[in-house]
Amino acid sequence: MPSLRRVTQWLQPSCIVAGPVTAVDPQMLRAQGIRGLVLDVDRTLAPRRQLMLPETVRRWITRVRSQFKVHLLSNNLSRRRIVWVAKELDLPYCLAARKPSRGSLRQVLKTINLPPDQVAMVGDRLFTDVLAGNRMGMMSLLVQPIDPDGRASRQDRLYRMELHLLKTLELLTPTDNSIDI
Ligand SMILES: [Mg+2]
Repeated sequence: MPSLRRVTQWLQPSCIVAGPVTAVDPQMLRAQGIRGLVLDVDRTLAPRRQLMLPETVRRWITRVRSQFKVHLLSNNLSRRRIVWVAKELDLPYCLAARKPSRGSLRQVLKTINLPPDQVAMVGDRLFTDVLAGNRMGMMSLLVQPIDPDGRASRQDRLYRMELHLLKTLELLTPTDNSIDI
């Protein structure tokens, strides 16, 4: 059993992004030696319960794909939804990933042929995306869930709860504390 201290460390995102995935700055990641991105799908790229992608997401993907190896990784069991997103964005994917288990992430790292410390895991969930990335020794970016208009969702209760948990565990920096949710 990992100690409580270890679990707490695993929950600390490398970066809490003040916005949805499109607020992630590719230059900042490149400057830190990041060469690959593993992206969560549900509510990170595609809004809740919708088979659509905001235009801002499509543009952001176009921007990052020229600078990084990009791979999708989803816990979703719906092949139809994930395959649709992967096809729309023309990106490789892995579904039913069982994050925070590391098996499928290991597989993705093999596929993109990069070491963990050169890859960032990007997602909207602490206990799946961030935890999985941290356990693999990757950079972990917690983004805000996305709405159909491409803005950060203000309705996402789970995201708010997870942010409050980070606050309680004193894992927020003064900058993170200013994030407007
Ligand atoms: Mg998600």
